[in-house]
Amino acid sequence: MKVYADNAATTKMSPIAIKTMVKYMENVYGNPSSLHSVGQEAAEALSQARETIAKYLGCSPKEIYFTSGGSEADNQAIISAAEIGLRKGKKHIISTAFEHHAVLHTLDRLSKKGFEIELLPVDENGMIKPEQVADAIREDTCLVTIMYANNEIGTILPISEIGKICRENCVIFHTDAVQAAGHLHIDVEKENIDLLSLSAHKFHGPKGIGVLYARKSVPLTNLIDGGAQERGKRAGTENIPAIMSMASAFEEVCEKIDSNSDYLIPLRNKLIDGLLKVPHSALNGDKENRLPGNVSICFEGIEGESLLLLLDAKGVSASSGSACTSGSLDPSHVLLSIGRPHEIAHGSLRLSLCEYNTEEEIDYMIETVPQVVNYLRNISPLWKDKEKGRKEYILK
Ligand SMILES: *Cc1c(COP(=O)(O)O)cnc(C)c1O
Repeated sequence: MKVYADNAATTKMSPIAIKTMVKYMENVYGNPSSLHSVGQEAAEALSQARETIAKYLGCSPKEIYFTSGGSEADNQAIISAAEIGLRKGKKHIISTAFEHHAVLHTLDRLSKKGFEIELLPVDENGMIKPEQVADAIREDTCLVTIMYANNEIGTILPISEIGKICRENCVIFHTDAVQAAGHLHIDVEKENIDLLSLSAHKFHGPKGIGVLYARKSVPLTNLIDGGAQERGKRAGTENIPAIMSMASAFEEVCEKIDSNSDYLIPLRNKLIDGLLKVPHSALNGDKENRLPGNVSICFEGIEGESLLLLLDAKGVSASSGSACTSGSLDPSHVLLSIGRPHEIAHGSLRLSLCEYNTEEEIDYMIETVPQVVNYLRNISPLWKDKEKGRKEYILK
């Protein structure tokens, strides 16, 4: 059996997204900046896509900017807020220890330029209390950037409470909503979000395209200079097929948020319960406030990469944290942030589901993963020491 369970890394494009992409490649090839009718047809399509996306975020189409993906949107959001802060002499930025690297590395860059970055600790479930944000905000705070939901452990953060606190304190609030988009209802007005990042390939759209929502009151800084596309904030001829495809994929998932959750949550819980039957294992992330498709488990005495390779041989595509950290020997900063010791963090497995996964696939993983874990433990001398009582277990 083949099971794709790495939807937090990227998703398969939906049939509608593929069809839309091909349609615009074949038929609507004009440059939206051209004055002739072929160009204007593309310009018309572009404004339609902007309207669709704005509708599902609860904002104005004028507040939607197309980017090359989630990373660019995060970079532009944070750099823009920092520049606004700089003009007012404000150089303090609040974030969390377990953001995506697109956020953390942008903050590193700003810290080298004299910004003071305060990373709030998350608790053992990867949760932030809104009061932590309220307590951290100072006179000179120019930005709070906190992700909507974590990509590795699936914890959903109290975004609307944090948004309210930021609004009351007149601090710009950015959220990386790449993992939440299409899975949770987002409303930038109700939640007081000023800047928000999306990426199409995380919701069955194409790769290399994303969105930055920026509230009217937040002027953006260009990362790319050139033509006047995206109201002068992001130069370069628009990728019409990808933008149209993204809009069709977004509409499709947003219309199905409730039915997809109703389908996925029982499957996710079944998988979690099945895997936690393995002795000396633990769930990562919050049990209740959790993305519908996220399963993240630590198995003591396991090396994540070996687990992934053996699972791959059995047809299961999974991840041991975020794709960005694989290839490095450091354990995931997310697992360390929730207090997992290095040894345990190395033995993590993330299975991220989507609405295309079936119950048979879940059953297959409940059967296969424990087999592979047992096999790896049985060939480990360290594990034998623990079984013979010569060394302590870390997970009960
Ligand atoms: C995937 C991801 C990104 C990066 O998006 P790209 O479109 O791949 O650049 C940023 N943040 C989070 C939380 C993600 O999961």
